[in-house]
Formats: sequence, C-alpha cells, structure tokens
Amino acid sequence: MTQPCNTRHIILRVAVPIRLHRLFDYLAPENSTIDDFKPGIRIRVPFGRSNKVAFLVECVEHSEIDSHKLKAIEAIIDEHPLFSEQDMRLLHWVSRYYHHPLGDVYSTALPALLRQGKAAILPVEERYVLTGQGKAIASEQLKRAPKQKALLEKFQSHASHLSASELSAFDEKWRTAIKPLLEKTLVQAGPPDSNAIQVEPLMRNVALESNLQQQAAIDAVCNRLGQFGVFLLEGVTGSGKTEVYLQIIHTVLQQQQQVLVLVPEITLTPQLEERFRQRFSVAIAVSHSKLTDSQRNAAWLKMQQGACSIMLGTRSALFTPLKNPGLIILDEEHDASFKQQEGCRFYARDVAVVRGKMLAIPVLLGSATPALESLHNVDKGRYQLLHLPQRAGNALQPAFQLLDIRNKKMHEGLSAALIAEIKNTLAKSEQVLLFLNRRGFAPTLICHGCGWVMRCPHCDANMVVHAHEQLLRCHHCGVEGVLLENCPACKARQLMPLGLGTERVEKVLTALFADKAIVRLDRDSTRQKGSLERYLSDINDGKADIILGTQMLAKGHHFSQVTLVAMLDVDSGLFSVDFHAAEKLAQLIIQVAGRAGREMKPGKVILQTRQPEHPLLLTLVQQGYKAFAKTALRERKEAQLPPFSYQALLRAQASDAELAKQFLHTVVDLANRIHNSETGQHTSILGPVPAPMAKRAGLHRYQTLFQSQKRQELHKLLDILLPEIYKINRSHSLSWSLDVDPVDLF
Ligand code: ADP
Ligand code: ZN
Ligand code: ZN
Repeated sequence: MTQPCNTRHIILRVAVPIRLHRLFDYLAPENSTIDDFKPGIRIRVPFGRSNKVAFLVECVEHSEIDSHKLKAIEAIIDEHPLFSEQDMRLLHWVSRYYHHPLGDVYSTALPALLRQGKAAILPVEERYVLTGQGKAIASEQLKRAPKQKALLEKFQSHASHLSASELSAFDEKWRTAIKPLLEKTLVQAGPPDSNAIQVEPLMRNVALESNLQQQAAIDAVCNRLGQFGVFLLEGVTGSGKTEVYLQIIHTVLQQQQQVLVLVPEITLTPQLEERFRQRFSVAIAVSHSKLTDSQRNAAWLKMQQGACSIMLGTRSALFTPLKNPGLIILDEEHDASFKQQEGCRFYARDVAVVRGKMLAIPVLLGSATPALESLHNVDKGRYQLLHLPQRAGNALQPAFQLLDIRNKKMHEGLSAALIAEIKNTLAKSEQVLLFLNRRGFAPTLICHGCGWVMRCPHCDANMVVHAHEQLLRCHHCGVEGVLLENCPACKARQLMPLGLGTERVEKVLTALFADKAIVRLDRDSTRQKGSLERYLSDINDGKADIILGTQMLAKGHHFSQVTLVAMLDVDSGLFSVDFHAAEKLAQLIIQVAGRAGREMKPGKVILQTRQPEHPLLLTLVQQGYKAFAKTALRERKEAQLPPFSYQALLRAQASDAELAKQFLHTVVDLANRIHNSETGQHTSILGPVPAPMAKRAGLHRYQTLFQSQKRQELHKLLDILLPEIYKINRSHSLSWSLDVDPVDLF
C-alpha cells in the first residue's frame, strides 16, 4: 500500500472518521521524512474549525488539489503503525463491503482512548504473587475473614500470581482484602507483567479426555493451523464444544500464537471466562462494553504487542490486532448480536471469515443451532462441518412436549398441566426453569370500560406496566410515565394490565409456591452490578427452586440441577413479518431447552402453545433443529430469500414522516436509473415503505430494500448509488443508514 515518494512535498492521504465516503490529502511538515509516515499510524489533522484524529492510508506524490491549497497536518501521533498491512486490508474490505466511510471503520476498530488520540502505550500492570508461606498455609485458618480467605484461595487455585485486572475481575474491592494478606506476608507485590507471551506453565488444569467426535473435531482444526479454512462445529448444548475450543487453543498456544475468541455477550456468561482462566495460565485479555475505557485499551494493546495470548471478547473485539495470529473462534455463531446495529453495521461472523482468509489462519464457528447461512455454506462446500452428536459425559437429550393450551384455563400464563409438572419436579428437589421473553409486569395497560390503551407518545408501541417500580415504561425509547388509576378517555377506574411479563409470572409463582425460592433473571432484576453473578451462583448452589427469566437464560449457562424447562408462550414468535423470525424462534427454543438436564438426570422441555400443529414446532420437536433448518432453507430458496439472494436495507428517519418518505423516493429514482443503465437487471428495489415499527423515539421511519440474486450486482449498484445519496440535499433532521446483510428488517 505504501508508495514511496521523494518529492519535496510528501502528500499524506488520510481517512478521517466522518460520514463522508472519501479520503483527504494533507501536507507533511517541512522537516519530516517519508520514514515518519508508515501507513496505519494516526495523525492529527485540522478539520473544519477544529482537528481530528485521522489514519494514514498512504503517501502519494500528487494530489488532485493544488499543493498550496493543501493544509499541513498538526501532529504525528504514532511512531509505529497501529494496524498491520493485513489488518488495513481488512478494514478497507469492510469499508467497501458495508459501504461505510473508511475513517469511521478505522475508528470502529479502535478502543475509545486510541480513537481519541491517546498514546498507544501499554500501562505496566501491578502483579501480586503468593509467598512460600502463602502457598503452605491452609485457607481455613482465615475463615474468620471470608474476604481474605476467598482471595487467598484464588491465589492458591490459580498459578500463584494475579494481575490487578485479574484481581478486579475477581473482586472489585480486592485492594481492601489484599492489605492484610500483604501484612501477613502471605502475598507480596511481584515483578510487573512481563508483557511477553508467556509459555509455561500453559495449563493449570488438565484437559478432559476427549471422546471420539471431539477428537475428530480437534484434529481437523489442528491439522489446518497455519492455513485458512472455516469449520462449523455443530453440537447440542453440553456436547463439549467449549472443551474442543480449549484443546485446540492449547495447541495454538504451544506454537506461540494468539487466539481470538468472540462470544455474544460475555457479561452474561461469567462462567466461560472462569473456565478459560482455570485451564490456561497464560495472560488472557477480555474486552466487552462493561469494562472501563482503560481496561479495554490495555486489552487491545496487549494483543497488538503480543503480551496476551488469548482475547475473549464481544463483536467489537473482532478487529483487535494480533501480533502472532493463530486462530479465530466464534462461539454461538448463530447469535444476532454478532451483527452491529449502528454505525458501521458489520457482521462479525462474516468479517471473521474474511479476516481468517487474509491472515491464512483457520476460523472455527460453533453452535448448537447454526445459522441457516452457515449451514448453507456447509452445503456449498465452503465450510467444513464438524459434528458432536451427543452430550459429553452421560447427560441425555431432553424430551420435548408441545402442551396444547387451547381452551385451557390459564393461571397468569400457567396451565394446570404445567403447574402440576412444576410441583412434581420441585417435589424431587430438582430445579425448574421458566422462560418468557417479556420483562415488566404486563406489556399493555388497557381500560376495561372503553378499550383505551396507553401508547408511548414517541413510539409506535404500547407502554409496559412495571408494577414493582409503579410506573409505565416504553421499552423502545425508555420514556416513563405514572401508573394511571383513572382512564384518561372515559374517566372510569377500570385500567388493567393486559398480557404477561416476567414480573407478573413471578408474582403468581410466589403465591403458588410460597415456600420455594424463586429467582427472576431479566434486564430489570440484574441492573445492579454483581447481581447476575449472585443469582447464577445461588442457582448453582441449589439455593433457587424456580428460575424465571428472559433471553438472558438462553445464553450458554450451565444449570446442572434444572430438569424441567418450560416456555410459557412460544406463539408470539410464530407470526412475525420478518422472514428471520422462524429461524430465531427455533434457535431460541433449542437454546432454552439446552439448559435442561445437563447432568445425570434427564430433562423435560414443555412448550405451551395454541398452535400445536404448527409445522415449525412439529418439525423442531419431533425431528430436531437440523430437520427444521433443512425445511427452512428449502423455503428460503423457493422464496429467493437470503442466503439464496443478497439484501441491503436503506433506512431513513425524520421527525416529519414526509421528509423520510420523500428522501427515499429520491433514492429509489436514482437507483432505478442506475439499475437500468449501468448494472445488470437482477436487483429488485422495494419501497419505500414504513418500517415495521413506523415510529420510534419521536422519529418516523421508512425503508427501502434492495435484493439481488447476484451479490456483485447489488454491490455495484450500491457503489454507484451511495455517492449520489450523499449529494442529495437533505434536511438536518433527517438521518439515514445502509445495512448490508440486515439481520432484522425492523
Ligand atoms: P458445550 O460448550 O457444547 O455446551 P461443554 O464443553 O461446556 O459443552 O461441556 C459440557 C459439559 O460436559 C461440561 O461440564 C464439560 O466439563 C463436560 N465435558 C466436556 N467434554 C467432556 C469429555 N470429553 N468427557 C467428560 N466430560 C466432558
Ligand atoms: Zn376508558
Ligand atoms: Zn417510546
């Protein structure tokens, strides 16, 4: 990418993080040399009335702009590039494929502090080590000081040293607890983090002995190290996928290479991080949105400089530079959270594959319920399927039951049959898990007198009743209102909550099972820091009898004592306008079901439905996810929907509906003209139509869908169209975005 230039003026072509699809030329300072400007460094440039952190893409000899009109840069921020040439190629690919401005893509790839122009220096981390005395002492001797005891045990169970960030992850107030340990010389300050890849001891705990299928999967990937290849590890929950990851990672670490592990929502699965730390003694970097900016910064730099061997992170960690890349893993690859839904709308799963190809390393995707796209890629021979058909150890597959609730008397969402099953399970001292994907008390407040419904003033949605907080809240824009007593329309005192939320089910469970411990897990109940961890450990310690929750429960948890899982309402997922809905519902059902009977006792899964004959449900429970996926792919093919066609969705929103609509009409006119004259004729342009949620947070939303049988043709059209869209004269109150390969059409 570098173009050496020895003319008097060095012209720097930079990407500026703004919403414009072009690069900018600047002059290098007089006394600088070409060696100061390696592509991939950050430079501060004057921009408008202020300045911006920009990224050097290349040095060129000539600019289209007269050199005396070019401005000089303000400062060079980095001596060494932040990105390697391959990483830059990846970012350029992302910019082209998602039609997103390059400068903004560079920004997306950086942690906040580097984005703001902070120096790329890794802070030296304090570390503490166990003394000989600390190794010898029995932690029981500290039983009168539980915090100290816990911390000592942490040191004793892990290799004897822990860094400040590891300690903070363990206990936020670790500094208070460590003081007496230091005074008693059980622990001492150690040499700071060496910032070098640490080779031994690699393993803290030995690996489990893998079964035949696990071994085949491990061998397949390990034989491919150093080359590109995509593997889809399909295995039911509990089949030992994580164990497969850990063993492959071990081989990669032995080769002194780094591993990038992406997961949907790491904060929801603290168990996973713990498992990695238990297994490996090498430094592990963690990155997710709950960490502070400086923690994320340190994690990014440690991977870039090779000081950490494993990065465990969410979607945004995808772009973390790797000094010695060896492997990329995406766990729960079907999860829609791998798609970024604002700014640069990249799909981490797809970009990971592209990155693997550029780096010539394998990419391992794992799931119990692979995305239809991934299964299609297996069919096409692009991905290699690795299959774990059984649960590891002795656990059995759960048995499904479709519970027909038509005409049945319901007790706040619970049928008599389900209540009986719950009782039976509790009588055996086993745990019950109930799933309802709606938090709050009730999704609607309605007047029994006149039918008036409390709507959100800013959204096309009803206000949700939150009984505990005594208020109404919109789940789309967050606006709150008082829980009215009298109907504003007819003045009658007949307002009543309609429908079910987790709070309401919790209330009825408390009444029905007064002597049982009920744990509710949803975004409201876990808002407080540390509360999720506390609930999870209560559940695992057997302190909970009934676990009730939303989506959160579907994510990778391992509840060993749960034997009954029930989904209270699957019907609401069956009738969506979005073609992705069936796939998402099937994945959700299988994922939730996967929490049941993970150890010795067999599990049972009950789905309450008024659609017991629905083909999706029947196929899924009688023949399993793969059969469902096969049918669903056939239907997608017949309807020419993705992955048999390619989509891009252009969204526009404005406080004035007419503005948004008009803007899209202009776009569609432009697109039709280009489509007829410059690209092939295989793209259909649908819309503009109001978005399924036509108004949100006070903004009216419209959208236009581009769909094509030919990916290249779609992108060619977008390539020509996008610069034209930027030229459209539009009001400042209108905003628009392009979503390539959208995962939801809302
Ligand atoms: P998944 O990631 O597919 O849900 P895990 O790797 O978490 O599966 O394994 C599920 C359970 O089975 C864990 O408790 C794990 O320790 C255990 N397990 C995994 N592989 C083996 C094995 N080869 N032998 C015995 N137990 C295993
Ligand atoms: Zn009324
Ligand atoms: Zn709202």
